[in-house]
Amino acid sequence: MIRPGKMLKQVLDSIFRKPATTNYPFTKAVMPDKFRGKIIFHPEKCIGCKMCMRDCPAGAIQIRKIGDKKFECEIDLGKCIYCAQCVDSCLKKALETTKEFELAALERNKLKVTYHADTGEVSKE
Ligand code: SF4
Ligand code: SF4
Repeated sequence: MIRPGKMLKQVLDSIFRKPATTNYPFTKAVMPDKFRGKIIFHPEKCIGCKMCMRDCPAGAIQIRKIGDKKFECEIDLGKCIYCAQCVDSCLKKALETTKEFELAALERNKLKVTYHADTGEVSKE
């Protein structure tokens, strides 16, 4: 049991200590540099080896050949567990983690994003 004197010291200490929590979502969350958020794809770097697909534990990533040396990438953000194994497996650095984590959607199919080969732009199903 904590003695009242010791407890009072802890209470006073905590009044002046900087809070360990943040006021999210009212204050924007600042994620650390190595945070593993949404995966993005750089089509110009991809060689279609599909190592990312082979190593993904969740079956969340698909690479499709759509032309001569042209590949598009579909990532199901609903299946992805944000382990970044695909990023580590890609020797061409065609996949990258971001700090983006606010990815919720009301419909499951809205969580499938496709990075197009020519533009790298994203479309949702
Ligand atoms: S591992 Fe990299 S280069 Fe290979 S298919 Fe996946 S994204 Fe493309
Ligand atoms: S981050 Fe992990 S789960 Fe998500 S696509 Fe890459 S390997 Fe698969």
